Amino acid sequence: MPRYASVLLPQAIDHELTYGIPDALAGTVRPGVRVEVPVRGSRVIALVTALSDRAPEGMSIKPVTRVLDEAPYYDEAAMRFLHWVGEYYLAPRGAVLRTAWPEAARHIYKRERAAPAVLPEPAPGSLEVPRTLNPAQDAALRAIATAVATRRFESFLLHGITGSGKTEVYLRAAGLVLEAGRSTIVLVPEISLAIQIVAWFRARFGIKVVVLHSRLTGADRGKALDEARRGPRIVVGARSAVFAPVTALGLIVVDEEHEPAYKQEETAPLYHARDCALERAKLASCPVVLGSATPSLEVAAQAKAGRMTLLELPERVDGTPLPRVELVSMKGVASTQALSAPLARALEETVARGEQALLFLNRRGFAPVLLCTSCGHVPRCARCSTNLVLHAAEGRLLCHWCNTAVAVPRQCPTCAGGALRAVGLGTERVESAVRDLIPEARLVRMDQDTTRRREAHGELLELFASSDILIGTQMIAKGLDFPRLTLVGVILADASLDMPDFRAAERTFQLLTQVAGRAGRRAVQGRVIIQTYSPDHPVIRAAADHDYWEMYGAESALRKALHYPPYGRIIRFRLAAGTLSLAGEAAKRLTECLCRHLPPKAVLLGPAPCTPAVVAKRHRQHLVLRGQNMAALREAAHAALAEFARWPVSSKVRLHVDPDPLNVMS
Ligand code: ADP
Ligand code: ZN
Repeated sequence: MPRYASVLLPQAIDHELTYGIPDALAGTVRPGVRVEVPVRGSRVIALVTALSDRAPEGMSIKPVTRVLDEAPYYDEAAMRFLHWVGEYYLAPRGAVLRTAWPEAARHIYKRERAAPAVLPEPAPGSLEVPRTLNPAQDAALRAIATAVATRRFESFLLHGITGSGKTEVYLRAAGLVLEAGRSTIVLVPEISLAIQIVAWFRARFGIKVVVLHSRLTGADRGKALDEARRGPRIVVGARSAVFAPVTALGLIVVDEEHEPAYKQEETAPLYHARDCALERAKLASCPVVLGSATPSLEVAAQAKAGRMTLLELPERVDGTPLPRVELVSMKGVASTQALSAPLARALEETVARGEQALLFLNRRGFAPVLLCTSCGHVPRCARCSTNLVLHAAEGRLLCHWCNTAVAVPRQCPTCAGGALRAVGLGTERVESAVRDLIPEARLVRMDQDTTRRREAHGELLELFASSDILIGTQMIAKGLDFPRLTLVGVILADASLDMPDFRAAERTFQLLTQVAGRAGRRAVQGRVIIQTYSPDHPVIRAAADHDYWEMYGAESALRKALHYPPYGRIIRFRLAAGTLSLAGEAAKRLTECLCRHLPPKAVLLGPAPCTPAVVAKRHRQHLVLRGQNMAALREAAHAALAEFARWPVSSKVRLHVDPDPLNVMS
């Protein structure tokens, strides 16, 4: 009998600790089970990774105090998956466990009798089961069913516009998996926006559905995870559900795979749940289905290259035609004018007909810049290298990076002379322009400022059901389904197009397609008006044509020429420090370390200041390592980071290591 166990703690450390196995627990401590161990006077839940007969020398070994699981919490494939996440994302292995285990799993809670983990959500709309699939759905389901039946890894891109019946394919595929006695993990970008999907799964599979709700806290979340292990289940959750400890994984579905919410930012591992889903499915030898109306270029390129099976659902199930899209050039229009003449007229007509309109602008506040007309002074944040955004309703200037707020000055603080002018557009200004245009219209504005209270989101949507015009940021771009909504106005497509980010055009296409999809969803054709300074931009044109592959063609040619993903791989390093000189010195050190290990043909870009360079008094610098082969880049990064860590001052610098970054700017 092995007498020692290596255990991993859910903490940001890379190595395992060794504990003794007392006779009473012999045979129950196995790889994959959770145990309770003493750590510096307290008790911590940890994961057993291996057993051995010999203790490491020269250390006093404490015993495991409790075994939590009879059957392993993670099976062998899941254990290998956890290991992979740490390696791939260059993160301490314990940090992976910390991400995988919610607060509750890391502490001890009283076990109670199994209760259905979460109550069903109220189900809006019809939950009827369509009796027959259309031919495209049928072909898609058959392809997935074959992979399910033969239990092999295969990745599918299910490409279909909103309303083309993707969810129905997920439901049927998950049903087949359940019949085969296996589990499905369904990932959604944000569980609070997935009420509809959850309702459908519940209506069909009842208590077999476990929802990992972000609102579940403490013990409830732990219980939901226990429920996921109780037998074949369908687990629905946001990105961390990719770590769910399910029994006999048979399928993973990633809905809206292109959504940035799948990427964890800030806390290591900076993993992408879609890429993790691909790896977990590979290790578990099961299929994975990635669904989207606007696939990420990374995924689409794999499908084009034949490394992923492309399944297309080209039409809406109910035959509703796609909305008519008109581009309106804003060239020559004042930067403070929210509504062009065509959009103003369309709004008036829509409201007069008793229909609804939606106005989208991905920028909150009244105006992004306040400017002194006599000296040119622009109020800036005292803690960040950014300007302050005018929030007129609250009478203050707000930093969107650190939330510092100051009262709107009456006169220019620098010259005390000229008038201050609000330059540019935000959702508040759009609201006031619409109020001036149609004073009797009932308006609802939804952005971070109006939805601070958790309930506000639902309340405002309810209010909109009996209102005329909804104005908002990207939080209104998806999911909404209002039958009387026939007009969508995009106030300024350039707001996202002009970002200094190589994915800006792709992201703009996704947003435009999503928001356009809100118009005319019940048999009537909707109308979309896109205001832009770049009406000839190929990606704006592609959005107007509803042509994903047109966008793909234009964008992938650019990416190829620049060796950007998906035609090159990158790892981004971001350093933040309390002073500019320390940040600069750290960046120089890291550059030297990386240069010593630079793989052939790889290039190192930077160091350069991030945008913004200073956030909350932290000075930030970044470096980008780019090459063709991710394994070679990771190896170089690994070696360089080990060297960098030996620099005595490195502990004063916060370092982010981001393989396959989404954010390449801030
Ligand atoms: P998507 O996920 O692509 O947006 P859904 O799967 O939600 O599309 O389908 C849109 C609507 O069409 C839903 O109300 C769904 O119940 C219905 N639906 C899906 N497939 C069929 C079908 N084959 N026959 C009739 N209705 C269907
Ligand atoms: Zn700030």
